[in-house]
Amino acid sequence: MKGVIICVDDEFMILQILGKLLRRNFGKDYNIELANSGAEALSLCAELKAEGLQIPLIISDHNMQEMQGDSLLIELHKLYPKMLKIMLTGHADAHSVGNVVNASALYRYIHKPWDEDDLILTVAEALRSFAQEQKLAEQNALLKEMNSRLESSLSLLLATLEATANGILVLDSLGKVVIFNQKFTEIWQLDASTSTNDSQKLIDLILASLIKADAANFQALIKQDNIKERDLLILKSGRIIEYYSQSQKLSGKIVGQVLTFRDVTTEKQEQATIEYQALHDSLTNLPNRALFDQKLSEAITYAAEHSEIMGIMFLDLDKFKQVNDTCGHSVGDLLLKTVTQRLAICLREVDLIARWGGDEFGIILPEIRCRENMIEIADRLIKAMEPAFILEGHRLNVTTSIGIALYPEDGSDSSTLLHSADMALYKVKKSGRNNYC
Ligand code: GH3
Ligand code: MG
Repeated sequence: MKGVIICVDDEFMILQILGKLLRRNFGKDYNIELANSGAEALSLCAELKAEGLQIPLIISDHNMQEMQGDSLLIELHKLYPKMLKIMLTGHADAHSVGNVVNASALYRYIHKPWDEDDLILTVAEALRSFAQEQKLAEQNALLKEMNSRLESSLSLLLATLEATANGILVLDSLGKVVIFNQKFTEIWQLDASTSTNDSQKLIDLILASLIKADAANFQALIKQDNIKERDLLILKSGRIIEYYSQSQKLSGKIVGQVLTFRDVTTEKQEQATIEYQALHDSLTNLPNRALFDQKLSEAITYAAEHSEIMGIMFLDLDKFKQVNDTCGHSVGDLLLKTVTQRLAICLREVDLIARWGGDEFGIILPEIRCRENMIEIADRLIKAMEPAFILEGHRLNVTTSIGIALYPEDGSDSSTLLHSADMALYKVKKSGRNNYC
């Protein structure tokens, strides 16, 4: 839709000439409308505006019968401040045009009779200036819109950063700190005054809190780019922190790295406790049958690969039931624990003693040179039981029976070996206890 230039003059002939001149020069891009009074100009403007048309320029005569040009332009300025105004006057001096220059933000005044070239040039200039203003206003609006979108993205980012339970650290491509959240400072126990300004100090604090190997790993990690990694960091204090690292890309180019951290100390401790409990006996803290089986398979594999012999023992307390019956179950428990300690002292670092169940213990003895070796150990174990146990005021004399089996001669796999040891134990029990077989 074309914009409209309005010409106002109460002298019919002059108005026609002006209209004609403007149509000839600007008719291609603008409609030229004529009004022969201030009142008509005002209603014309209102009409055109209501139709949604743009009126970049109004050219009005100064000296008119009813409403004077200056009053009209001042009035129009109040209604349409962006419309440019040119006044035609027979007295082209600042004094005669009065305060209209400021009050209507008059673009220019041209004295009558006008110079045609001057008038056309002035109008052309005014239209160009209006178009430029218009463009600038559009650009400004666009910038404002972009700015508000950016502000909203930023506030969303900051809110998200703080809403997560993880510590977040963002580094640029040079490894400098860009931003971190509150949770990050809590996880790394950083001072409240820590800021992104002292990037190196912050990284140094993290490195100083880590055990040596992990400090080196972390330092290598923050120097890399294009990584996606999840791992654990161990602190000197014993805490365990899990991190996840992801590179940040902008138009396909890596511009930084986002690291998230989570304190998993409790989680890992609980996990370790559960794993420990699954493989250990709660009364004696010894490995249980599951761990014994696992270790036995490993020991057999090792012995087979290295052509070594090894042995196992089944050790069962003699007449243990009587302890329970005469002294109570709690003394029985205490005896099992104390027996465990005595047995452990007789064994080597490489041996493994497990609670097989009840009052029965399984022992794995790798790196055995000969049968006599096993006998020496069995003797030691039996002897260890000799001193009486004084438990909760009870004096207990306890003996034990031991069944021994050697790999490979008594069995080349776990179950055969276990069966052999079990049979040997059975023999001892049958033949009077307190002995080995
Ligand atoms: P034997 O000489 O033939 O081995 O006789 P024993 O009395 O030692 O009998 P056995 O080895 O067959 O049974 C072991 C007993 O140990 C059975 C059970 O009542 C008791 N027992 C098993 N587990 C526990 C435990 O955790 N605490 C206590 N106090 N007693 C247990
Ligand atoms: Mg027994």
